[in-house]
Amino acid sequence: MEARECTRCAELAATRTSVVFGAGNADADLMFVGEAPGANEDLQGLPFVGAAGKLLEKLLGEIGLSRAEVFIANVLKCRPPGNRDPRPGEIENCTPYLIRQVELVQPRVICTLGNFATKLLRGDPAGITRVHGRPEVRTIGSHTTRLYPIYHPAAALYTPRTMETLREDFLALPGVLGLAPAAPSPAFDDALVVVEAAVEPEPAPGLVPVVVPEQPRPEQLGLF
Ligand code: URA
Repeated sequence: MEARECTRCAELAATRTSVVFGAGNADADLMFVGEAPGANEDLQGLPFVGAAGKLLEKLLGEIGLSRAEVFIANVLKCRPPGNRDPRPGEIENCTPYLIRQVELVQPRVICTLGNFATKLLRGDPAGITRVHGRPEVRTIGSHTTRLYPIYHPAAALYTPRTMETLREDFLALPGVLGLAPAAPSPAFDDALVVVEAAVEPEPAPGLVPVVVPEQPRPEQLGLF
């Protein structure tokens, strides 16, 4: 893939130190999609290596997973100057790389971190506050998977209530990973993003959304 030399976004190409493509287990069951690299990520060429990344690693550890077991990517592969929000044209330019990553890794579950990744991969403008903690079946490129939107760890760093909710959603993640593999919709038609949205049962208000596995998970297919 040509991402390392990508100049689709002139401003980002001119101001970045590195293209932060993604990192982790290319055969992972679980993939995280954040927003965009920050200053540390841009310098090191790796996603989530700053304070938000440390929190992500801590929360992963609390459910018995390590960073090396998952795959981590972002909506944008280049840092927006001054950490400004990604612009619609930049998201559009970069989305083909993310779709290709999903198709290569073939994760069972994609955790979208915060609004940008959630809105993009759900194909819907509903914000993270409304949809966090609820798994949904979506087809991304050619791969049908479960999306599991959660708050962005950076948002939880300074807001205790958000941290609490993020931790609750994280604790339900092993249950989401244990659900039967997401099945492609009969309506599947090769569209780039989102062709099916099978909304799974909503947890009762006020309850932590514990998801009961439907069946034991099969062995993962080796892709590489
Ligand atoms: N925030 C993100 O969304 N991505 C990173 O890689 C780091 C911080």
